[in-house]
Amino acid sequence: MAIIMEGLTSCPICGSTDLSKPYTATSGGAFPERDELWRYCDAPLHLECLAHWPHRERFSRGYFDLWRDESIRGHGVLLAEAPRWLLRCGPAKPEAEPYYVEVRIADWPMRLYSRWAQWPDYSAQQYRQGLIGEALEAADEVMSEVRKIAPDLESLRALRQRMLFKPASP
Ligand SMILES: [Zn+2]
Repeated sequence: MAIIMEGLTSCPICGSTDLSKPYTATSGGAFPERDELWRYCDAPLHLECLAHWPHRERFSRGYFDLWRDESIRGHGVLLAEAPRWLLRCGPAKPEAEPYYVEVRIADWPMRLYSRWAQWPDYSAQQYRQGLIGEALEAADEVMSEVRKIAPDLESLRALRQRMLFKPASP
């Protein structure tokens, strides 16, 4: 998570240090320093500002592709994916339950994150906390799709088993 100091850190889209409005922040840099989007990485971004920001899709896609990438799967397991979202869980021994579940959205740079055991409540309603406007609409649309394949812990476990034990692709 970005290091945010109240009153000092600003949203680079509007330049305001007022972080009383809902915001999100990415972790790590998905763009090289020479890219115009680099300065938006690891910084707080108001949800309101993101809604009308022309770079939102490319920015979000940078992080989305990073998390989709095979090479970082050591950080967790990709459970399922659709064009607009990824469902992942944290790393754990096969016999243990992972610590977290997360949903990444292709066109919003948000991470919808839940402790594994809290997934049923989280995926039903709690994910909406702290979200507003178009960010909330995007989360609602995505979560309604995710719930169809992962409504409860049983379905999460089944998805995980399938991904952990699938034969390696040639
Ligand atoms: Zn802003």
